[in-house]
Amino acid sequence: MNIRKDDTVLVIAGKDKGKKGKVRFAYPDEKRIMVEGINFIKKHSKAKGAARQAGIIEREAPIRVSNVMLLCSKCNHPARVGFRFLDDGKKVRFCRACGEVID
Ligand SMILES: [Zn+2]
Repeated sequence: MNIRKDDTVLVIAGKDKGKKGKVRFAYPDEKRIMVEGINFIKKHSKAKGAARQAGIIEREAPIRVSNVMLLCSKCNHPARVGFRFLDDGKKVRFCRACGEVID
């Protein structure tokens, strides 16, 4: 997966199209990510003692990684991500728009 925790992404599909947010969690196995402020869902909850009130709570839900593009921290463009190897053999991501290494 070419998106990681703490990346800033642009949503390119779905109801939050056009919004930006920071990746809070990544779920590589499911190809999903949780993005700050994106994809709020309403959950109905029952009261559970004094700790939890009954009612509707809104929380973020993970979205598919195919619905976002990485925002390049260097050129600030939604970037297609490439991979390249540094001289020391480390694999890093780079922005195909400006060519800068992102990691
Ligand atoms: Zn860039």
